[in-house]
Amino acid sequence: MSSPDVQQPLSTIQCDVWRSAVRSGGQQTVSFLLLERLTIPLLGCDDHLEQFSSICELSTDDTAEIVHHRPAGGLSCPSCRLAPYNTSYPLIRVRDGAIVPIACPEHQSEIVQRFQTGLRTQQQLTSDFVTHIDS
Ligand SMILES: [Zn+2]
Ligand SMILES: [Zn+2]
Repeated sequence: MSSPDVQQPLSTIQCDVWRSAVRSGGQQTVSFLLLERLTIPLLGCDDHLEQFSSICELSTDDTAEIVHHRPAGGLSCPSCRLAPYNTSYPLIRVRDGAIVPIACPEHQSEIVQRFQTGLRTQQQLTSDFVTHIDS
């Protein structure tokens, strides 16, 4: 299996919701991924945010959660708090769509690593189990 799809060109993204979110120039409400001690601001549609969080969750024994409001106490990282909105953030491909982490470089790379770890775990799981569970 090749490395996970991250930082692909915009033109390959098949997600209208994501496109309109980006076009709105940050007017879109930012969502937050809560994972262990991390709080990562994210831009994306609900579907792909949920997919992203469930994959990140595979990288930890803890649970990952998406919230659509600024968490109580705000962001613990001052750099993330100051991270300006712009479209130069790296995309993280999530199946046919994408999400954008609006975080400082340190936390961006941390969440990308979590996602890649989660993807690897998912690949192991799907190759270990033949049965598909449809939820
Ligand atoms: Zn989407
Ligand atoms: Zn940060």
